[in-house]
Order: sequence, then C-alpha cells, then structure tokens
Amino acid sequence: MNRAFDEAWFAARAHEGIRGLKAYDPGHDVVALRAAAEWLVELGSNENPYGPSPDAREALLDSLHLVHRYPDPRGTALKAKLAGVHGVDPACLLLGNGSHELLMQLAQVFAGPGDDVVYSQFGFAVFAIATQAAGAKARVVTALPRDAAMPLGHDLAALAAAVTPATKLVYVANPNNPTGTWFGAPALAAFVAAIPPEVIVVIDEAYAEMVDAPEFETAMGLLGSHPNLVVTRTFSKAYGLAGLRCGYAVAHPALLAVLERVRESFNVNGFALAACAAALDDHAHVAWVRRRNVEQRAALARWLAGRGIATIPSQTNFLLAEFGERTPAIEDALLTHGIVLRPMRGYGLAHFSRITVGTLDEQRRLFAALDEVLA
Ligand SMILES: *Cc1c(COP(=O)(O)O)cnc(C)c1O
Repeated sequence: MNRAFDEAWFAARAHEGIRGLKAYDPGHDVVALRAAAEWLVELGSNENPYGPSPDAREALLDSLHLVHRYPDPRGTALKAKLAGVHGVDPACLLLGNGSHELLMQLAQVFAGPGDDVVYSQFGFAVFAIATQAAGAKARVVTALPRDAAMPLGHDLAALAAAVTPATKLVYVANPNNPTGTWFGAPALAAFVAAIPPEVIVVIDEAYAEMVDAPEFETAMGLLGSHPNLVVTRTFSKAYGLAGLRCGYAVAHPALLAVLERVRESFNVNGFALAACAAALDDHAHVAWVRRRNVEQRAALARWLAGRGIATIPSQTNFLLAEFGERTPAIEDALLTHGIVLRPMRGYGLAHFSRITVGTLDEQRRLFAALDEVLA
C-alpha cells in the first residue's frame, strides 16, 4: 500500500469544523492501568467512589429482562420523577446519553459556521469540542486571575460583554470543571439578565448536588423569566451512575422541541431510565454522599496545605492542586503507586493536577504515596 490512509487523510475529507478538532482527552487509559495494577486509586474522572443508591442497583437488575426491547424513547417515567423533583412540567425536560450529549446537541442545533459561542478559559472541555464540531467560532473569555477572590473562576461580566450579534450560545458551568469554582445567586441572576434573549445560555450544573456553599443556587429558578436558559444536570456525579450515561436538560418546552429534532430516538437506555428514576427517590443516599464528599474534600485540602500545596476553592468532588514545576513528575510517580490523577496540560494549567475527592481509604493511600513522592 503506497498511500497512507492515515487520520490526516480522512480528516481532510471531514467538514471544516471537524478537520481541526481534537478528540476529548479522557486522561489516562484507566482500563489498561486497571489490568496492570494490583489495585488502583482512580482520582482522575470525578466519579462517585461510593457508587449509587442500592435502590438504583436493584432497579437496574430488575430491568435486565427487558434487554431485548427498545427502551421508552421518551423516558416518560423518569421525566415524571424529575418533574416532581424540580417542580417543572415534564415538557421542560430532555434526557441525554450523559449531559455530554446534550451539551453537544445544543451547539449542533443553535450554532454553526459564522456564529460565535462564548465560554470561559478553563471552562469544561466539552464546550470547546461542541463549538468546533458545530463549525462555530469560540470566543474564549479570560478567567479570573490566580489572586482573585475566586481564583481561575468565571469572569461573568467579561463573559456577558463578549456576546456580540454573532453569538448564538453561551456555556457556563457552575460549579465549574476543572477549576471547582462557583458563583452565587445574585451574580448568576445578573449574568443571565445581561444576555440578550436571542442568545441561548447554558448553565451546566453537573456538580450541583455536591454543593454545600449557602450562596449557591441552581439556575432553575430563572427559567420562568428567561426562556433562553438551559440548565443541564447529570446522574454521573452525586448519583454515582456514570457508567449508565444519563443526564438531562431543563428548559422552555419550545426550546427543547428544537433540540428534540436531532435527538437519537433511543439515546437513553432502559437500564439507565430505571436506575436513575430509583436513584431520585433515595434522597438520603445523595445527602450522605454530599456529606462524605464535603468532609473528605476538606481533609484533602488541609493535608495538601500542610505540605505547602495550594488548592483552588471547590464546591465539587475534586480539587485543583498546584504542584508547580514538578507536576508531571509527581503525576507519573503517583501512577507507579497505582494512583491516577488528571493532568491539566490540555487546559493550559500545566502546574496543576485535578484530584477527585476519594473515600477515606483512598485518600490515605494517596497521602502515603504523596509523602513518598514529595520527599
Ligand atoms: C462530569 C461533567 C459532566 C457530566 O457528563 P456526563 O456526560 O453527564 O457524564 C458535565 N459537565 C461537567 C462540567 C462535568 O464535569
């Protein structure tokens, strides 16, 4: 074979947005690491180390006998549950194969060549991929400085000011990944009010159930007054169901009707529909996960501070830790101890690692390994 049918050759066949696109970087190949290591402490993907409610597991197993059937294409039962939880009409809900899918759909539907999408520096990686895949142009707004009250957080005033007549979509995560930063209710309300109604505002609340800061408020209360607002949530984090791939959007029914046009008919599988509905009923489990996470997050921040390693304030189940110049060496050394952190080079945060808050036992292993590595 003379010609190299390599990725570049096929990429040249793709449309313009895809040609320059880089695939989502999942961090490490955890499957390979798992196979190689006796045990692994996986602190790279912000999963819930406690797992889901036992009720969710049971509902999942109870639904196995329906594996030969297509799932409910509309997810009626899960939407009815979610409608109750959030006090909205079921028509205000759209389910996704993870909220990742919904974030992609939003750009696919509302932005294209010639359009702008606004999001923050250090915003969630999917915002950039969704924008570029849609063929739209990213307007990336500089994050707050390291010495700000909310270091590396979203500069909401600058984000609102970056909106131009070409802007179709604004993505904001609150709290944000990978920084862990957040903003409170007054800032949120002022921001949403500053965006023209023709521009779709997406507030990604993947970590909302982890938050304990009293000033935080979901954007859902603003939906009634702002039909251009979309709030996304996920079952992957606090609910501990990342493996099932289920998330949802809450928005004006007419907005969702347009997204519905591109939704794959059976995008959420039957096991996810069953388990997520059951998970919603177990408030005690989510509250317990939140308490454990708050406790271990504080313990992790304290331990690192004791070794002179700064962390960015976080309302999530991870901390951005500033290891400085030694960051890659520390990450590699921890890997040899079977501990997986998330490198941040791709985000332009090469002096930081993102560490998922683990269980007490996982964190003990991390501390022991770090003590060796830092020595
Ligand atoms: C983890 C995460 C998601 C959730 O992704 P799923 O596709 O629902 O698993 C969405 N947004 C942010 C900011 C996240 O960190």
